[in-house]
Amino acid sequence: MDLLERLQAICGPEHVSDVLADRLCYRRDCGPTTGGVPDVVVRPESTAEVAEIVRLANEVRKPIFLWGRATTFVGFGVQEGCIVMALDLMNRIVKIDLENQVVTAEAGAIWHAVDSELNKLGWEMTVPGGGGMFSCTVGGTAAYNAVPHGITEYGMTGGHVVALEVVLPDGTVIRTGSAANTDAPFPIERGANGPDLAGLFIGSCGTLGVITQVTMRIRRVPECERFLFYAFERLDDAVDAATAIQSQRAATFLVGLFGGPKPDGVEGEAFLHVIIRDSVMEAERRAQAARVCCETFRGRPQDPEGTRRYWTEHMYSWLRNTPASAYYGSRPYYCPEVAGFLPTQALKEAIPMLHDYIANNADFARVGMHVKGFDVYFSPNSAFLWVDTLYPEMDPEARQVGLQVRADIAEMLFGRWMSPGGIVAGIAPYIMQRLGPTYGLLKRLKAALDPNGILNPGVLGLGGDDD
Ligand SMILES: Cc1cc2nc3c(=O)[nH]c(=O)nc-3n(C[C@H](O)[C@H](O)[C@H](O)COP(=O)(O)OP(=O)(O)OC[C@H]3O[C@@H](n4cnc5c(N)ncnc54)[C@H](O)[C@@H]3O)c2cc1C
Repeated sequence: MDLLERLQAICGPEHVSDVLADRLCYRRDCGPTTGGVPDVVVRPESTAEVAEIVRLANEVRKPIFLWGRATTFVGFGVQEGCIVMALDLMNRIVKIDLENQVVTAEAGAIWHAVDSELNKLGWEMTVPGGGGMFSCTVGGTAAYNAVPHGITEYGMTGGHVVALEVVLPDGTVIRTGSAANTDAPFPIERGANGPDLAGLFIGSCGTLGVITQVTMRIRRVPECERFLFYAFERLDDAVDAATAIQSQRAATFLVGLFGGPKPDGVEGEAFLHVIIRDSVMEAERRAQAARVCCETFRGRPQDPEGTRRYWTEHMYSWLRNTPASAYYGSRPYYCPEVAGFLPTQALKEAIPMLHDYIANNADFARVGMHVKGFDVYFSPNSAFLWVDTLYPEMDPEARQVGLQVRADIAEMLFGRWMSPGGIVAGIAPYIMQRLGPTYGLLKRLKAALDPNGILNPGVLGLGGDDD
């Protein structure tokens, strides 16, 4: 039997394809890297099938690339001639456990689909997911450790994971935390049964194992939501107001706009959106604290209707008071994104440096690039800055300039202040070498768990040709 037939024997012929038209759809994420064309695409329906596929790939030494919904903007790194394993058919909600305040879903379940089921019961996941929540999977989101909405109060996605079921690169199936106890396999506490093994797979972008089930914490939907929107004449004032809001723990979600189109109909140089979710009394107290923080630093209150629409309708363009049709042009643009965490106060230097770089880069305007935003999701104690530039995809020269812009900006920011969130393959060349001995440890872990370099080789700079 050849590989195709053996995969078909595992998953059924209807879930395996070597048809070129199918394979072409599995080469790139939303990022600028075109990617190689896989030899075969396989869509398992169960953990047992995943384990068998991984064992087979080891036997025939054929790399597997994992595919949630490919909503990352970074560059997947799919190699020519590999197997793409798409997890979309593993999309069941395994258990909503209100008593123990957790939900368990298969890796391929869509994030918001899980939340919607909880919402019907008056509950929600304790972290709302990132902007891709309507298309991304829970497994891919944990594997990437997406930066979520609500990060200012709730922190990172990975912090809300209670337990994972993972297929290791040799096909062994493990469970993490309290769920690891085979005599009492309750997914209720991550910090049980020794080291935090869930943490090993969160953010590792599928290089160390295939996440097949995710258990997340849940809570009752908060009683109310409040919205504020402030404009500032000076960047430094907005940054100081944001720092104050962080130390007051006033916002559930604080978003700053420091570049790109200004919000429609609003004067100013920097802008803060504040979203607060809490009981009615607490929300009012926190809103008052946020107002004081903004107005102390000369913030001018604006109509927060765009803030409300952004949050409740999940459409990013409302942060700039515009509907989606006005915000996203008709031309295909791609985003060579650079994003990461830096100290909040460092924005005072980093943002002007970015503006200077764009203003002095003649190629940027010549090939029709735009700044979509220098936007910040404030965490409890730092700033997650998205440097979103756009290049017109149909122009090869513009693509080259776009990639160079990404390289320059990564160099500028990672060299002084910033550590990226999701790395995948696209950002790995700019960051992994900077991790020094930590990169060395990651390589040793990869070599120990995946000696044949079967899972996502090259992603995070692990297990690829350079290793
Ligand atoms: C409109 C939009 C808005 C977005 N907003 C945000 C945002 O606010 N914050 C943010 O961080 N990101 C955001 N993103 C990027 C993206 O949605 C998230 O990072 C998302 O969580 C990725 O999920 P996915 O299922 O598409 O994973 P994929 O993109 O398919 O995979 C991500 C990585 O994990 C690996 N992987 C996938 N599934 C598994 C698995 N089961 N086990 C192990 N490894 C796996 C993949 O090989 C890849 O390396 C946005 C995307 C879109 C389209």
